[in-house]
Amino acid sequence: MTDSRIAESFTVTMEKFLGLACTRLPDDVYEKLKELREAEDGALQKVVYDAYFENLRRAAELGRPCCQDTGLLHFYIKAGTSFPYLDMVESSLREAVRRATRSVPLRQNTVNYFEERNTGDNTGERMPWINWDIVPGGGDLEITAYFAGAGCCLPGRSRVFKPSDGYAAIVQSVFDAVADLGVNACPPLIVGVGLGHNVENAALLSKKAYLRPLGSRHPHPGGAELERQLTGGLNKLGIGAQGLRGNSAVMAVHIESSARHTATIAVAVNTACYAHRRGLIKFKKDLSHELAGYKGAVL
Ligand code: SF4
Repeated sequence: MTDSRIAESFTVTMEKFLGLACTRLPDDVYEKLKELREAEDGALQKVVYDAYFENLRRAAELGRPCCQDTGLLHFYIKAGTSFPYLDMVESSLREAVRRATRSVPLRQNTVNYFEERNTGDNTGERMPWINWDIVPGGGDLEITAYFAGAGCCLPGRSRVFKPSDGYAAIVQSVFDAVADLGVNACPPLIVGVGLGHNVENAALLSKKAYLRPLGSRHPHPGGAELERQLTGGLNKLGIGAQGLRGNSAVMAVHIESSARHTATIAVAVNTACYAHRRGLIKFKKDLSHELAGYKGAVL
């Protein structure tokens, strides 16, 4: 195949994948929502969850987005250094977003600062947002697509504390984010917590945290224990689905961390809503692909 045909094939696949990923939730999220519905004992919470599932059923049936806010597109890429088509990835992803905006359709959400005009196709300055990780010696390309809606972005925060504030500042930041705007972000949430040394690395880690599969744990026992305690604590707030009274404000709390400066504790909190449209697709060197987390789905 020529380079242009390869790029076209990749673009078409990604356009279709965006259609799937904003229509259907990944299996782990869907199963968690079912589990949390069963754990609710109030009639109103059952009604809210049933409305969620009915919405998801209709979205799949009609092939339409499962939330009207299809957000801005983020791509988190793990690129093997020997994957042969790295050059065409960014331009093809931009084109796939343009096409999906028309074909799915995605809501036109993208406004450039200083122009204050909707671009109309969900591309814009540094948008879609693309983040690269290099995998030394690898031959594959893994792309996680995320639809970042406004409601679930609003509770996000990042702050640097003094060591004298202690690790209690981490807990305070998480509870403040969820109890403040988190209740408006269509709970149950997945809360990503980034622990680092300044605002920027903590913010990036918080994003990577909530993109992790449900059921995964921080690799350090202390981190895993903090995830468990934060999840348990948030689920004792009496907040349930849609911010109404209930038993589960969150599906999970995930923490990602890097070493910190001796003199700083940086904490970022990022929240994802019940409509957690996080999709993973893996490409081999021959551009064949595999969908991860959507049982039975084909593009
Ligand atoms: S918070 Fe999530 S489910 Fe609620 S409107 Fe925003 S994108 Fe949709």
